[in-house]
Amino acid sequence: MAIIEVSNLKKSFGNLEVLKNITFDVNKNDVVAVIGPSGSGKSTMLRSLVQLEDINAGSISFSGEYLVKDGIYSKPQEIKRITAKMGMVFQHFNLFPHLTVKENLELAPKLVKKESSAAIEQRSAEILEKIGLTERATAYPANLSGGQKQRVAIARALMMNPEILLFDEPTSALDPELTGEVLQVMKKLAEEHMTMIVVTHEMGFAKEVANRVIFMDNGEIVESGAPTELFDHPQFDRTKAFLNRSYK
Ligand code: ADP
Ligand code: MG
Repeated sequence: MAIIEVSNLKKSFGNLEVLKNITFDVNKNDVVAVIGPSGSGKSTMLRSLVQLEDINAGSISFSGEYLVKDGIYSKPQEIKRITAKMGMVFQHFNLFPHLTVKENLELAPKLVKKESSAAIEQRSAEILEKIGLTERATAYPANLSGGQKQRVAIARALMMNPEILLFDEPTSALDPELTGEVLQVMKKLAEEHMTMIVVTHEMGFAKEVANRVIFMDNGEIVESGAPTELFDHPQFDRTKAFLNRSYK
C-alpha cells in the first residue's frame, strides 16, 4: 500500500527549476534511499514532502489524503495534521542547545498535550534505551559527540510516533568514525519495519538496508529500482557516471 504518492511535482526557486517532474510512491515498510549529485534537488524534494517548501505544481498525498493536489494545497489545519505523521532528521541535527537530551525529546509531545507527562517520560526513557543513550539523558547537546547528537535527533523524531521517517544526509556532517553508530540505529529501525526515505551518500547502507533506490540528477528521477539492479546494472549513463564517481 502506498503511504506517500508524489506525482508531477515541480518546484522552482525564482527562475531556477530544481524539481522538474517528480513522480514516485513509497509503500508502507519501504526503506527508500535517494542518491544523486549535490544540487540535484534531493533536499528540496524531501522538504516538500513535509511542507518545509511550497511546490509549484503536482500532487503529494499521504495515506490517501492530499497535502497538495494539482498544485492546490489543502487547508492549513489539514496540512498540519498530515505532516504530523512524518518525522524528519536533518544533516545538522537541529537540536535545541539550551535543552537537555531528555528535554529535547519531550518538548514537542508535551506541547501537543495529547498524552500525560508520565506517558511521555516513559516513552522518552524507552527510546533513549533503544538508541543506547540512557546515561546521557541530562546532558546538553554541546557535550555530546556528533554521532550521539544525531542519535538524539532520531530519538526526538521517534517521540512523535511517526508513520514515516525522512532523513536528509544524516551522516554527512559526521567524522567517518561516528557514522557507524547512526547507521546502526537506522538499520535497527528498518528491521522494525519503520518506513523511511533516506537521502544518503552511504552507498553501502543503501545497498544493504534499502529495498529501493532512487537516483536523482538535475531535478529529475533518472531511474529507480532494487539496490542490486540499480547498483549492479544501472540503465542510464548518468547513473553509471555518478556511481563510478561515488565508489572511488
Ligand atoms: P541536493 O540536496 O540534491 O544537494 P538541493 O535540493 O539542496 O539539492 O538544491 C537543489 C537546487 O536548488 C540547487 O541548485 C540549490 O542551489 C537550489 N536551492 C535550494 N534551496 C534554495 C533556496 N532556498 N533558494 C534558492 N535556491 C535554492
Ligand atoms: Mg541536500
